Amino acid sequence: MSTESASVEERKNVIEQRHREAASEAIPEGPAKLYVDGEWVESASGETFETRDPTTNEVLATVAAGTAEDVDRAVAAAQSAYEDEWADTSARERQGILNEIAGRIEGRIDEFATIDTLDNGKPIRESRADAYIAADYFRYFAGAARRTGGETVPTESGKHVETIREPYGVVGQVIPWNFPLLMAAWKIAPALAAGNTVVLKPAEETPLSALELVREIEDVLPDGVLNLVTGFGEEAGAPLTSHPDVRKVAFTGSTAVGKEVMKAAAETITDVTLELGGKSPVVVFPDADVERAVRVVMLAMFYNTGECCTAGTRLFLHADVKEAFMEAFVAAAEDLTVGDPLEKETRLGPKVSREQAERTLGFVEEARELDATIHTGGGAPDDEALAEGAFVAPTIIEGLNHDSRPVQEEIFGPVEEVFEWTDYEAMIELANDVDYGLAAGVITEDLDRAYEAAHDIEAGTVWVNQYNDFPPGMPFGGFKQSGIGRENAAETLEHYTQTKSIDIDL
Ligand code: NAD
Repeated sequence: MSTESASVEERKNVIEQRHREAASEAIPEGPAKLYVDGEWVESASGETFETRDPTTNEVLATVAAGTAEDVDRAVAAAQSAYEDEWADTSARERQGILNEIAGRIEGRIDEFATIDTLDNGKPIRESRADAYIAADYFRYFAGAARRTGGETVPTESGKHVETIREPYGVVGQVIPWNFPLLMAAWKIAPALAAGNTVVLKPAEETPLSALELVREIEDVLPDGVLNLVTGFGEEAGAPLTSHPDVRKVAFTGSTAVGKEVMKAAAETITDVTLELGGKSPVVVFPDADVERAVRVVMLAMFYNTGECCTAGTRLFLHADVKEAFMEAFVAAAEDLTVGDPLEKETRLGPKVSREQAERTLGFVEEARELDATIHTGGGAPDDEALAEGAFVAPTIIEGLNHDSRPVQEEIFGPVEEVFEWTDYEAMIELANDVDYGLAAGVITEDLDRAYEAAHDIEAGTVWVNQYNDFPPGMPFGGFKQSGIGRENAAETLEHYTQTKSIDIDL
């Protein structure tokens, strides 16, 4: 064995050993069960599935695969908990509970971060940020729970008209794999704050941090208030989002599945919140500070390995800054530390699964066939020690037609697509020429330009000279096919409550 190959083998062993040790410390032994009515139970079918570590491709845990029967049980438990107890809790009590949950997460940041890094592959510094932010969302909604009020309506004398906001009852929630703990927090916190009970289905690729969250907080919540049904989309997700006793559905995931969820909700006229895909533009103006612009674009594109619904994947560079920007941008992408996500220096980990890495690389292949220029990346990173993992090198592509499939569809990996612009109106037209409208970035030193572009771009969130900032309280959600409803803000509580008018003849 040559020295070089021995060192590859050694490094690979070090990574595998590190992951096995982390997994044995952070993930409980034995098959994970469903959590229904305050009990850990096997799935009705007895079926299980495996969740893998995308860095090493080793199995991390075996997890119960829920089906419609389990969903029925979980919804019935949530219904009883709502009627028997939770509907009568005061906002003050719910505030106390949510603050307690926040504290529990804060007390175990490292464990939650390790679990998400093992299960999803995201760099540990990003998983730690997710855990802190997840706790902060619980704190935000703990406070917001106190302000779900109605109003009095001026009317003729001798009458009194008022509105109150009432919870729906049982909420069914389905989340994706890209921010496992954070998405669980985004969903659970407002639903409970508003006085609903919950059945949550995490993504089949990354169920472990939601399981750990429930283990951590099960003594904080009355039985049945929060139920967790792990499993696959068709088998567990669809029965939940179409269940007749689920009065509110909140779904985060792809637009394709979001459409199915909305169709199913039509059968029972159930209210839905949908947080779906994106294909966000980032616009760099001629006056932009190149160093700052590169920093923002790196964050917009490569944060969370490009597995962000908000990822700024279509980069519109003004011709005046393009050359200087591209030189610095390609260098920064090539400098990004790709590797074991458990190491704190790592900035880009593997994708969530080999299947997802292949999907991303399929788009890159298509771009090649369309004669696009691949400035950097375009395949797996050049490090044999990472060969078992689902790695995709940071990739920058130029020369694609804006109508082509790789530009129109969500790639959901570390792949940037570059376009040059000179005419503002023509650039805005292209920036808006996708089915999505989730987010956008604008980089300029000129506030007038920033405002103009922020108004002209069709997106639920526009970041100026920064990206991926999600302060609790700032509404987040999509225009067009990126979704319906807004999360993370006071108005989110309106999505989790319904108005009742009371009209009294005095
Ligand atoms: P996905 O739509 O394949 O799956 C999301 C969830 O839906 C999973 O839990 C899955 O099991 C479940 N599911 C699948 N089929 C279902 C069905 N028929 N009925 C009910 N549930 C079903 O998406 P994904 O690949 O897990 O996640 C990536 C997608 O999520 C991307 O499109 C991304 O943009 C989107 N996303 C959006 C936001 C946002 O806030 N807008 C945030 C994160 C991710």
